[in-house]
Amino acid sequence: MDDYLRSFDDYNPWAEVRVVQGKGRCVYSKTKIPRGTVFFKNTPYVAQVDLSYKRNICNTCFKFFSETNRQNVIRCPGCLEIYYCSNYCKLFNQAHTKHTETECEWLKIFSLVYRTQFQEDDKNLILLALKIIARKINHNEPIHFINDSNQSIPLDVIDLVDHYQEYLVNASSKGNSGGSGCSTSMECNSTTNCNNSNNNSNNNSNCNHSQQDREYTNSWNNQLKRLINIVKTIQNIIDGNQYNEMKYHGIDQDGDINMEDCNIGDSDTENLSNLVSALTLSDRNILRLLTKIRANYFGLWHYGYTENLVHYNKINRSSIELKQQQQQEEEIDNDSNNNNNNQQQNELIWCGSGVYLILSLFNHSCFPNCTTLLEYNNHLLNNSNTSYDSHNIKNPLDISIIALRDIEPNTELLITYIPLDQPRSERIKQLKTTWLFTCDCKRCSMELEKGPSYTEPIFIKSCCPRKSCGNGLLIPTISNDSGDNNDSSSNFGHCRICKNSYILPTGDDLI
Ligand SMILES: [Zn+2]
Ligand SMILES: [Zn+2]
Ligand SMILES: [Zn+2]
Ligand SMILES: [Zn+2]
Repeated sequence: MDDYLRSFDDYNPWAEVRVVQGKGRCVYSKTKIPRGTVFFKNTPYVAQVDLSYKRNICNTCFKFFSETNRQNVIRCPGCLEIYYCSNYCKLFNQAHTKHTETECEWLKIFSLVYRTQFQEDDKNLILLALKIIARKINHNEPIHFINDSNQSIPLDVIDLVDHYQEYLVNASSKGNSGGSGCSTSMECNSTTNCNNSNNNSNNNSNCNHSQQDREYTNSWNNQLKRLINIVKTIQNIIDGNQYNEMKYHGIDQDGDINMEDCNIGDSDTENLSNLVSALTLSDRNILRLLTKIRANYFGLWHYGYTENLVHYNKINRSSIELKQQQQQEEEIDNDSNNNNNNQQQNELIWCGSGVYLILSLFNHSCFPNCTTLLEYNNHLLNNSNTSYDSHNIKNPLDISIIALRDIEPNTELLITYIPLDQPRSERIKQLKTTWLFTCDCKRCSMELEKGPSYTEPIFIKSCCPRKSCGNGLLIPTISNDSGDNNDSSSNFGHCRICKNSYILPTGDDLI
């Protein structure tokens, strides 16, 4: 494990992790952070290229290669699933992208047997899980994923927050979907706020659950069903018999050795609580891992520079991304001010996903004071003319956190988990569906109180003015983190999509 990660508190002059009652781990500023400061950087624990792009993106450096420029491209002869831009990248093994024999074998099985059985999002989840398990086996690390003390800085994927108990409690209470009896359902037991500001019906009796709440419950139960299906698949791929440690916390009755394919249909008649009670200990281990990944993985986006990428396939993309992509396209089409006709059309592309241990500590806001930036895209912002040279190594998959505004000491440092250019109801829905909390950030609560006509102009001022950029927050021109002279807080911000720079709003005229 990287020492840099261990020493977040000691070595980072800007920020520290605090445990806040009722909220768990949060990141706070220790001192004033001028906007534009890159105050934290994290290397992925595991990362993977999205399957739709595997032919066109290097497994190591994530460089794109077009169909017409493949002279040096190498394909893994074992699984035929992994591509490298060059021999250099094939040999350059980093922990988070190392393609071990174990992983190779599993990817091969996955691609031969299961490729067509899952939606894109689920495939990503499966591959991330396989990579994590393979990485742990390769490093002789324990492969049980149970950990109930989430109070320290994650040193391991085991330490990540999950919603495992909430899913199970929800599923085993009063069966699935049926109308009645939500007294023990997830939103009431959840550590997040049933009673908080966003409970729109100002009720005293907790369980005045609306149609909306029932929809959440159904959606969580469906997710759990999907996850259980994935667990069975993973068990089949890895052969649990070989890896006894999966059975941590007791004796696993069935061992899941050479289990029959167990394809759980999504028919409504399926009794979820029966499925849950039939889970073995090793099933639960993997389920726990999946919920950790699901709550913590980051999309790896490319902004522009698609070269001659012809392979973009957004079928089955999750609704969030698909919606965003469609919106981008529509707006690009409608953008009559587009005077850069010769420029390549900038696209926002989901090209992979990664699990980042420390980044996961940052909480969400719909008007965040910080943003994430992939090293890869950082390079594009600064040198939009040069093509990416991966071998000039900085890890292209490192994600930096940059202050979007001047941040006072003792302020919680927040990023966004979702696209922000959507109405409050939609934001709340996405956050609750995937991360199981009801957002009560400043923007959401102000919007609830004063209406969007109050909050939206403030939000929009911090975004790129070009409509086609989908209200992306401007990233203050990045000051060099090497130098100590951070007096020059930047007045300009870059749009990560069109790459133009604009004057940032001044002072505290923000929410
Ligand atoms: Zn490469
Ligand atoms: Zn391989
Ligand atoms: Zn919010
Ligand atoms: Zn823009």
